[in-house]
Amino acid sequence: MPEHTSLISHEPVSGAVVAEFAVDDAAAVSAAVERARLAAGWWQRLGFAERRNRLRGFAAQLAGRMSELAALIAQETGKSTDDARIEIIITIDQLRWAAGHAERVLRRHVLAPGFLLPNTVASVEYQPYGVVGVIGPWNYPVFTPMGSIAYALAAGNAVVFKPSEHTPAVARWLADALSTVVPEHPVLQVVFGYGETGAALASSGVDKLAFTGSTATGKRVMAACAQNLTPVVIECGGKDPMVVAADADLDAAAEAALWGGCFNSGQSCVGIERVYVVGSVYEQFVARLVELAGEVRAGVDGPAGYGAMTTPEQIDVVRRHLSDALSRGARAVVGGPESIRPPYIDPIVLVDVPEDAAAIQEETFGPTLTVSRVSTVDEAVQKANGTPYGLGASVFSRTEGETLARRLRAGMVSVNAALTFTGVPSLPFGGVGNSGFGRIHGADGLREFARTHAVANQRVRPPLRILTFRRTDRAMRTLVAGVRLLGGRR
Ligand code: NAD
Repeated sequence: MPEHTSLISHEPVSGAVVAEFAVDDAAAVSAAVERARLAAGWWQRLGFAERRNRLRGFAAQLAGRMSELAALIAQETGKSTDDARIEIIITIDQLRWAAGHAERVLRRHVLAPGFLLPNTVASVEYQPYGVVGVIGPWNYPVFTPMGSIAYALAAGNAVVFKPSEHTPAVARWLADALSTVVPEHPVLQVVFGYGETGAALASSGVDKLAFTGSTATGKRVMAACAQNLTPVVIECGGKDPMVVAADADLDAAAEAALWGGCFNSGQSCVGIERVYVVGSVYEQFVARLVELAGEVRAGVDGPAGYGAMTTPEQIDVVRRHLSDALSRGARAVVGGPESIRPPYIDPIVLVDVPEDAAAIQEETFGPTLTVSRVSTVDEAVQKANGTPYGLGASVFSRTEGETLARRLRAGMVSVNAALTFTGVPSLPFGGVGNSGFGRIHGADGLREFARTHAVANQRVRPPLRILTFRRTDRAMRTLVAGVRLLGGRR
């Protein structure tokens, strides 16, 4: 028996009940996976073109009913309507990209066979796994799981989705919306519950599992998947840095740092949390950031604000990082302890934070920024790379943005902007180190949800028959001589 039998989601601001669902135990999860197996066979046979039509229909549902979905997201997470709408808009773009490019990326491709077997037609195609399990977090209850769901569906898989316990109604909405354009089979099912339900899905024998959440849970999910050798994608947290070089557009950099750090209440895996600014422009940058931050407040549902923190636990993390930093000599140049007025937190900007403080090393996941002065961009790169995480990053420089970007240990980097990689569906998304591995989005994201299948098709029998017990010494000598001749060439 699961520890809980029902799951209730609440509005973070008012505490009002949003929805209640029965918790799915291991048997219910197994039953969903079995139903998904039948659905997967049908969905695969539908072919790329028809799946594309259906998924475009799903995108149309998201676009046409955006206000309804945005309101539900805002209810369950406490985020502002604008932040909810931005989340839906970038999801629609991802969904349409996955639907539109699946055939090109995954269909059979013929490859050059090489020197040894010119008589062979070599081809590779990417076939669906079958059933993909998706476990999601609460901070982007649409965009984040859909990064896996959309790509898994476009690749021809059926999906069983375990949403965060904080955002079950949004997950129900997504599955219902898809079923209006795919009424025949349940290609997307939702199983509800807490960690136990997620653990049951990880152990259920799904053909692939995509997990998004904290690093600690990611390790547990991987251990569960290891029992069946279930392949996994692990998308975990981050501590994303921004590097500001001496030749940066400081106004643009300050604006991007503030938005990248505070939108969605800072509860973004790729939110900017640390800023490293070269000494010659440090004072100017901080002054501009302080000025801009003064115009932004939590609890304002418009362009100059953002919503509530989704969970009380996350507020505690922000409080702990702030008080630890202040007790170790940091200064708050914007806000301070008084900025924390649950469920809201107004922007907080800290300077002079020691590099080994929790506010620099651990994921804060709140509307806070640390700003550190560095002597050179080399020092900025070294410090930016100085945490166990490696998810996203940002660089501001008029002349060396791309060069600096390539030196950052991160899965994605925005140059002269923050987080723009999330809005480019062709770009793969994922991390290194404690931020996880594997990729969603783009062609890599499609291939992540498909198994590689290679065929070597011998069209005519070769003149030199080597791979047989009937080969002659002469054939072997000719082959060795040929390889030596070619091997000597550059
Ligand atoms: P979490 O790890 O607490 O939970 C994530 C999901 O895992 C939830 O659905 C939860 O119920 C489930 N779960 C818990 N225990 C489990 C277990 N033992 N086995 C299987 N599933 C289990 O994370 P969260 O607090 O919901 O999400 C916030 C975290 O997600 C942050 O660290 C954030 O950075 C990260 N995140 C990463 C990305 C990315 O793409 N890299 C995107 C969004 C959020």
